[in-house]
Amino acid sequence: MYNDTIVAIATALGAGGIGIVRISGPDVRLIVSQIFRPRYAGTPDTWASHTLHLGGVIRPSDGQVIDEILLAWMKGPRTYTTEDVAEFHCHGGSVAVREVMALVLACGARPAEPGEFTRRAFLGGRLDLAQAEAVLDVINAKTKDGLAVAVGQLRGKLSERITALRARLLPIMAHLEAMIDFPEEDLPDLDIAQTITELAAVRKELVELIRRADTGQVLREGWKTVIAGLPNVGKSSLLNALLNEQRAIVTDIPGTTRDAIEEFIDLQGIPLRLVDTAGLRETDDPIEQIGVEKTQQYLANSDLVLLVLDASRPLLPEERSLIESFGERPMVVLLNKFDLVDHYDDEQRLRDLVPQADIVPLSARTGWGLDQLAEVLRRRVFALNEDTAMVERDLWITRLRHRDSLVKAQDFLAQAERDFRQGTAPDFITIDLRGAWEVLGEITGETASTDLLDQIFASFCIGK
Ligand code: GDP
Ligand code: ZN
Repeated sequence: MYNDTIVAIATALGAGGIGIVRISGPDVRLIVSQIFRPRYAGTPDTWASHTLHLGGVIRPSDGQVIDEILLAWMKGPRTYTTEDVAEFHCHGGSVAVREVMALVLACGARPAEPGEFTRRAFLGGRLDLAQAEAVLDVINAKTKDGLAVAVGQLRGKLSERITALRARLLPIMAHLEAMIDFPEEDLPDLDIAQTITELAAVRKELVELIRRADTGQVLREGWKTVIAGLPNVGKSSLLNALLNEQRAIVTDIPGTTRDAIEEFIDLQGIPLRLVDTAGLRETDDPIEQIGVEKTQQYLANSDLVLLVLDASRPLLPEERSLIESFGERPMVVLLNKFDLVDHYDDEQRLRDLVPQADIVPLSARTGWGLDQLAEVLRRRVFALNEDTAMVERDLWITRLRHRDSLVKAQDFLAQAERDFRQGTAPDFITIDLRGAWEVLGEITGETASTDLLDQIFASFCIGK
């Protein structure tokens, strides 16, 4: 399929137990025979596929042993890339893996581009495009729920659903095209009412998937959250309480450095990306210092506001105007310092002011109330309606690209429905149905262009 063999260091560089150099392509057997001397007998041609072999990596020019390794041998086509694949499991530390990589390059392989192994898997039919993207999501998953969604997609959950929806369009398209191609023939009439019902049913599923894109996005990327409130209400204390609450250290958002402007928090499985934590940490009281204008900028980029109030005193006029400036934005109001009081006097006024907000009493000092905050957020993330039963609970749209395709398909089908109702000629309806069919195919990659593929695989890391 490809005539070149690619190589990459597949593990993170640096000290570690093992470091893996991975190669894939037509010359894998040749390269392994040239630079690997097994402790026991055999060559790639005599070994069974998917076996491990102890041995030395040898520099052919001077016979020098570079490292003692385990070589994993996987014979195509039942491999990740569908080609012959070998992995050199070297001792960790960057020197051995770099030396092995250099030897493999000297044997004629070339360095793999980002995502190239996965791209070969896709082109070899081993994974479809949505599954290939899920590989990336599995690597970058932020929480257990995010991982579960990514693994579900990797196993083909989204792809199956899309394929099933496309399959339902097919008989309608076939019928219309027969009517166009053979107008003279005595074809059985298309049952218009039934067809409209069927299209509407497919469209309803699309709408439900689109609705779930918000949740999917949150699960994949975290919920962009701003902590707001007047000075001394306890914003910094809340940030610290949230940081203490999380048990696991979570990795950075890919592509961004940890610049202290954003902090990623796993609040009992709910991924929060807190914006402007630098302000909370160093300058303290960002609202006062950075001014309303700057605050509005942060807010414009956020999905959620955590508004902190001091429960031990009445709602202030400044707080009223702050709340009003948030408008309809998703908001949770935290009644902080609840360890000092047993109720909040202004609760009713608050509810009238922000009917859309959840109100959670809390103590940043003791951590009391954080469980309820997590519960409230979980309910918001997984906001589901009665149609939910239609789609599996663990199927979420996590990518804008997928969402865009679904929206377009939805539009095409709505147009087709209208056309059927108005008795439009089959030639025109066919165009819309074909449109829906094709944009849905972009999700799984059946109809994806080379540009789109380039763009998707460019975001992968090298060695994947
Ligand atoms: P910020 O200015 O909004 O960041 O507020 P801080 O987090 O700096 O807190 C202001 C003051 O309130 C500090 O003295 C905190 O110890 C105190 N404080 C914060 N949260 C609580 C709480 O839940 N209960 C009590 N009793 N005091 C708190
Ligand atoms: Zn503060």
